[in-house]
Amino acid sequence: MVDAVVVGAGPNGLAAAVTLARAGLSVEVVERNDTIGGGARTAELTLPGFRHDVCSAVHPMALQSRFFRAFGLEDRIELRLPDVQYGHPLDGGRAGIAHRDLARTADTLGVDGPAFHQLMAPLVRNADQVADFANDALLHVPRHPVTVARFGLRVLEQGTRAWDARFREDVAPAMVSGVAAHSIQHMPSLSTAAAALSLGVYAHARGWPVPVGGSQAIVDALAGDLVAHGGRIETGREVRSLGDLTPAKAVLFDTSVPGMLAIAGRQIPTPRRGALRRFRFGNAAAKVDFALSGPVPWQNEELRRAGTVHIGGTRAEIAAAEAEVARGRHAERPYVLGSEPTVVDPSRAPEGKHVFWAYAHVPAGSDVDQTEAVTRQIERFAPGFRDVVLESASRTAVDMQAYNPNYHGGDIAAGAASFWQLVKRPVVSSDPWRMGGGMYLCSEASAPGPGVHGMAGWHAARSALRHTFGLPTDVDLAPED
Ligand SMILES: Cc1cc2nc3c(=O)[nH]c(=O)nc-3n(C[C@H](O)[C@H](O)[C@H](O)COP(=O)(O)OP(=O)(O)OC[C@H]3O[C@@H](n4cnc5c(N)ncnc54)[C@H](O)[C@@H]3O)c2cc1C
Repeated sequence: MVDAVVVGAGPNGLAAAVTLARAGLSVEVVERNDTIGGGARTAELTLPGFRHDVCSAVHPMALQSRFFRAFGLEDRIELRLPDVQYGHPLDGGRAGIAHRDLARTADTLGVDGPAFHQLMAPLVRNADQVADFANDALLHVPRHPVTVARFGLRVLEQGTRAWDARFREDVAPAMVSGVAAHSIQHMPSLSTAAAALSLGVYAHARGWPVPVGGSQAIVDALAGDLVAHGGRIETGREVRSLGDLTPAKAVLFDTSVPGMLAIAGRQIPTPRRGALRRFRFGNAAAKVDFALSGPVPWQNEELRRAGTVHIGGTRAEIAAAEAEVARGRHAERPYVLGSEPTVVDPSRAPEGKHVFWAYAHVPAGSDVDQTEAVTRQIERFAPGFRDVVLESASRTAVDMQAYNPNYHGGDIAAGAASFWQLVKRPVVSSDPWRMGGGMYLCSEASAPGPGVHGMAGWHAARSALRHTFGLPTDVDLAPED
């Protein structure tokens, strides 16, 4: 018998396990894959010596996360900020360049500079308050109502047809939409606007870093702390029923909603089970990783200093590509999210060589290899890209699900990030992690949703501490000397 079992060793599962172990409980983590990490693994996917992030690559959410700040992530691993937080190429060698300094960014945007500055500045000044709101269940009483009201008004503007009202040219709106598209939804919509404003604000606050050595460094730090506090991790074992687990007072699921229901459905009270069955998956991502003989030859030189690049052209082009995917079709020119971590972390590749990480948005269940579509999109803004590609590795949306069952149909958010499903993630409640019967959902399928922030795990663990164990929830997570 242990106090708690966690099913799945992704960042949220490990965040939950660390929080419980730090509270003095005995904790066991069971992971189906042979290695820990879920969406934060790093591996040689192409050629020897080239280390690629298998899923997540860039970590503004980790820097802004209350959990990771309490955990002292920045004292445990090295997170490096590129000179340019994100870039957005447009035809003719033009580009939007997001510097960490908002004023410097606005200065490059010509006539739209003041409008971009006015959109972001009140939120950037209060970025930790924005993150505090975004890091919780949507249905909670906000601690900073003025900032939340400012955020909400801007979401209403950028999430509706009013989104172009403040802009005159094409660079600034393309930049906003490039960030908005992270949520793989038709746009404009409230959920894409919320992504644009929270992630966009983080770029000008703490920044968009990459971890030295890759995203694996984040989960290795979590696992190290867990083991140091008596926790146990077993890999290579898929959990199919509660009978597979060591008996425990609490079970926390770092799984999808159907994954949890398949294992523990009968333990979960009927009304909640019914609501969970209505939770829906969304569209998908197909991954392509490149080993490069040199840096990406972006036509716009400033992009060569960017950690992240949003590839899809103008706001109208991105919206059209996302609309195709929302209709269940492949876009001819898909939206591509790209990152070249070797710009700041040369340890990922042999000397002078680079890695490029990319994924394209595709319809759920797609089995279409996106290597050519992604290469064409990059070539459009970086002519000669093909010539620096040494090798590539591709994972279709279907492959993503085989790799991790949480990504049903290739949905990397483990549940559509629509506005309604941000309100009910996965159920309408101010404690949406608590399922009843000692069961808790701690994955990105619960609030606050996708991203490597550990917040779902931390919230679920705190709910378990309160309801199952009757213990205080203010657990000290700081590194020990
Ligand atoms: C291609 C891609 C790119 C991304 N890019 C970014 C990014 O740049 N920045 C960012 O912040 N986020 C990014 N994300 C999102 C981020 O990776 C996820 O939101 C995050 O990993 C979710 O963490 P989690 O712990 O909830 O789930 P996961 O990371 O999915 O981990 C769940 C774990 O549970 C295991 N598991 C599932 N079912 C069982 C079972 N029955 N038995 C045992 N084990 C089980 C899985 O194998 C997995 O290891 C990306 C995701 C993908 C896929």
